[in-house]
Amino acid sequence: MERTFFAVKPDGVGRGLVGELLGRLERKGLRLVGLKLMQVSEGLAREHYADHREKPFFAGLVSFITSGPIVATVWEGREAISTVRSLMGATDPAKAAPGTLRGDFGLSISANLVHGSDSPESAAREISLFFRTEELVGAARPEESWIYAGE
Ligand code: UDP
Ligand code: MG
Repeated sequence: MERTFFAVKPDGVGRGLVGELLGRLERKGLRLVGLKLMQVSEGLAREHYADHREKPFFAGLVSFITSGPIVATVWEGREAISTVRSLMGATDPAKAAPGTLRGDFGLSISANLVHGSDSPESAAREISLFFRTEELVGAARPEESWIYAGE
């Protein structure tokens, strides 16, 4: 069972799309194991996006992600990391396929609604950056085992 970090960025929260965006992941069959509305500090933003610190858009990215509250979440499921990435669509919403979160709701490359971990290493790093272990509520209960049918 894989876990991934997923966030609704300030534009998604501000536009009132939290329910719609998280709902797409729920309806896919992923299990929500962590959830919080939070204001990201500049320090956390810089740490989260450390891989991008040399990029020309880094300063704008940090100021965007700290411009309002985000919804930080953790999801669990079979191949959760790649599944969430494919539900999100391409980084540039103008190029993201219809049916994806970015393809259906976005147009701006910077304010592109959502973040999702791109590898097992980044998922582990990002989950521990945003959540304490005790904030993650976990294993599937027996009566819900049908969710994982076919694994
Ligand atoms: N970004 C941007 N301009 C760009 C490329 C990326 O503002 O030209 C922002 C955008 O918000 C993106 C984030 O930087 O989601 C991280 O970029 P990455 O390439 O990791 O895309 P993602 O993994 O979010 O699809
Ligand atoms: Mg990325």
